[in-house]
Amino acid sequence: MKTAQVYNNKIIIKDMEDIKLENRKGAIVEVLGCGLCGSDIVKFKHNIVHNGAVLGHEIVARILEINSDTNFNIGDKIVTSHHIPCGECNYCRHGNVSMCLHFKNTNIIPGGFSERVFVSEEHLKNVARKIPENIIDDEISFYEPLGCCIRAIKRCNLQEGDSALIVGLGSIGLLMGEALKALGYKVYGCDFIPERISLANKMGIQSFNSRNLDEFDTIIKELTQYYGVDAVFMTSGADKAIDTALKVVRQGGKILVFSSTPNNNGYPNNEIYYKELTVMGSYSPSPADLNDSFELLITGKVNVKNITTTYSLEDIQQAFDDTISNKIFKAYIKIAE
Ligand SMILES: [Zn+2]
Ligand SMILES: [Zn+2]
Repeated sequence: MKTAQVYNNKIIIKDMEDIKLENRKGAIVEVLGCGLCGSDIVKFKHNIVHNGAVLGHEIVARILEINSDTNFNIGDKIVTSHHIPCGECNYCRHGNVSMCLHFKNTNIIPGGFSERVFVSEEHLKNVARKIPENIIDDEISFYEPLGCCIRAIKRCNLQEGDSALIVGLGSIGLLMGEALKALGYKVYGCDFIPERISLANKMGIQSFNSRNLDEFDTIIKELTQYYGVDAVFMTSGADKAIDTALKVVRQGGKILVFSSTPNNNGYPNNEIYYKELTVMGSYSPSPADLNDSFELLITGKVNVKNITTTYSLEDIQQAFDDTISNKIFKAYIKIAE
């Protein structure tokens, strides 16, 4: 089977022996396509993975072989995420499922950018879903990334009608905006890149260029009766993003950290103290978050139309390059019909 593997700062297409079910419980699936996640880019760019690693986890697939006591059958089209919490450890009991050791150690094998993948029975039972006919592959591939956004929003515990600002309007920023809108919050966006701002506005996320921070702050204050926004979602890891968040968040507001920063930038102690700010992180979704994501996608409440650019597996290096250079919003690697 063909796979895309990381080799010394390049992604190369390499044959690998077909993955087999053997005696394992689970399914062998044919990958129809796989979204290229920001975390794949980080792993690739910063050389975090070993040579030969197959990245990708946002898969849409068809079951080829199955050995499992579940409702899935050969031929079913499914979507799945890659990690499963144990549900019992100290982290899980406190709702920090993505810190669970079992969560970190479970995965699809060898990775989504492959013609075939092994999906365990545990995946089938907890995080895989049959895809209904009314949604196309690249749209349902947002199942896991949208689950991440839903989790972040839930962690903020917002009240009805609250306002939220998204700092960074890349694909995950737009997705966060769509999710916030679908859940009934007032959403604003900001970025430095005009194309991103205009796409966000087209999608109904009222967005602005925040390069001139004082000007932007005035706009936000006017939109929020001079309070500032109730929550800021940090989907950008740019240096300036933290300054932007601190400027426009209201006193007592929340800052949700949703991306890494190149330097170990911090949030200033005294601003957090005097303004009673809550700064918190959100990482990967729980099965319940994924459930919500699935419902929002198949009912069309979250709009993910026209965000992706499709590439073949052979052109995956281009997909990585175009994503890194901000030429496109979100790549979807189409692997089979
Ligand atoms: Zn992802
Ligand atoms: Zn656990």
